[in-house]
Amino acid sequence: MKPNLKTAGNLFALIICCTFASSLIFAQTPEKTDSTDADIIEIHPIQHASFVMTWNGKTIHVDPVGDEKAYASFAKADLLLLTHDHGDHLNEKVINAVADEDTQIVAPATVFSKLNENNKLRTIVMTNSEQKVASGIPIEAIPMHNLTQERLRYHPKGNGNGYVATLGKKRVYIAGDTEDIPEMRALKNIDIAFIPMNLPYTMTVQQAAEAVKVFKPKVVIPYHYRGSDVEEFKRLVGNDSGIEVRLLAWYP
Ligand code: ZN
Ligand code: ZN
Repeated sequence: MKPNLKTAGNLFALIICCTFASSLIFAQTPEKTDSTDADIIEIHPIQHASFVMTWNGKTIHVDPVGDEKAYASFAKADLLLLTHDHGDHLNEKVINAVADEDTQIVAPATVFSKLNENNKLRTIVMTNSEQKVASGIPIEAIPMHNLTQERLRYHPKGNGNGYVATLGKKRVYIAGDTEDIPEMRALKNIDIAFIPMNLPYTMTVQQAAEAVKVFKPKVVIPYHYRGSDVEEFKRLVGNDSGIEVRLLAWYP
């Protein structure tokens, strides 16, 4: 049976809201009403590739960059996931603004080497395909890199990490800056997938749609798509795939 949130018998609650349009809150709740906080993942886009997730009392920041004020309403990070060292993903000033002494950072070695000593002390370095637990959350590092010859220079294999974070029973995939690599296509049981689609840095909407139709996340959230036609991505994924495409406001 294809995954379909509306008919799935398993408990699934997902709330997505947007910090730019504060009234935009839409909830996907099961017909059953026995959900608990542990089932609810809130997703707050900040910009481009930066977002905040809250789940079960924990606050998870992903690649926080941009205006520090955008993070003021969120709790300090329990977990900070850093994918790679490009400026649209890594800004230590913003890391310092969202982290405190209890924050655990997960990062590849290329990012670790650029952090200050204080942040290094709270960083768990992960290489592609490693699995570790950070802030009580199981994390798997997934490769992220380009495949197309003329794009290889942007994201060489091994420099960055995508991540699968297991939040309770839900598996959240954050792809990072990547094309549709075999490791992405081989993913299983992904509930929410953040997928980039912009040229020349990542991939086309066609590549992204083909990839998600293979690994079939329940929900796919395009991000890191400046200049791309995400409506076309949605059309290509189609209604028959059983994959729900959610378009959020990543660009003011
Ligand atoms: Zn990049
Ligand atoms: Zn990027």
